[in-house]
Amino acid sequence: MIFFRGGKGANITLPFKELAYHKVDELTEQAQICGSINTIKKLDDHRLLGDNTDGIGLVLDLERLRFIEKGMHILVIGAGGAARGVIAPILNYGCRITITNRTFSKADKLAKEFSAIGHINSLMLESIHSAGYDLVINATSSGVAGEAPAISSNIFKQNVFCYDMFYQLNETPFLTLAKTHGVLKYADGIGMLVGQAVFAFKLWHGKLPDISSVLQRIKENADIN
Ligand code: NDP
Repeated sequence: MIFFRGGKGANITLPFKELAYHKVDELTEQAQICGSINTIKKLDDHRLLGDNTDGIGLVLDLERLRFIEKGMHILVIGAGGAARGVIAPILNYGCRITITNRTFSKADKLAKEFSAIGHINSLMLESIHSAGYDLVINATSSGVAGEAPAISSNIFKQNVFCYDMFYQLNETPFLTLAKTHGVLKYADGIGMLVGQAVFAFKLWHGKLPDISSVLQRIKENADIN
């Protein structure tokens, strides 16, 4: 509809990302890998191009925070659409992934699907006991219900980075849990939100806006409200 009114691009959010994937005429490589899109661009010949910028948006934020380095072992908790979107960019960064999920079969399916790209294995939630992860990413929607995923507190230690894709005005339940167990470096998903948006902007306008100044503006507005 937006394109009939002269629109040149659109952002897609839950729960329409997979539906939109089937509606566009062309897909970027990343969108094909994800099976869902969050960005549409109207091309000069009026066809619609679909892209998924969630994964590169997350990696951009992790780089800004200095939470990611090549060779890291990353634990991804959750195996829904958001997890699917970030696996390939993280593997391509040169990191190793262990993925776990409340419904183990979904994590196992993703691990098998992406094993051609890099080092990824799956473990049942109850089998995660190691303190050996460099970065833990909560890709579950448990925060929506005010909960943290039921994960062993053994994974938390002072020097592990913790990132929650979920965000809200107050601290998220997962980050509260991590802090309670001594984690010092943590962040919620607001930077990922801005990260995926700046890559959408780049697809439309050819320029990558500065993520830090946008985040600063958001923080100032949150402080005012
Ligand atoms: P999905 O509905 O596709 O997947 C939800 C995932 O969360 C599943 O793995 C599900 O497990 C798990 N889950 C839900 N509730 C619980 C719980 N109480 N305990 C443990 N696991 C649970 O959602 P998405 O993948 O699209 O989104 C996941 C999160 O990422 C959301 O919080 C969303 O807001 C956030 N997100 C943030 C973005 C950003 O820009 N910051 C972008 C995209 C998403 P199961 O399979 O067992 O049901």
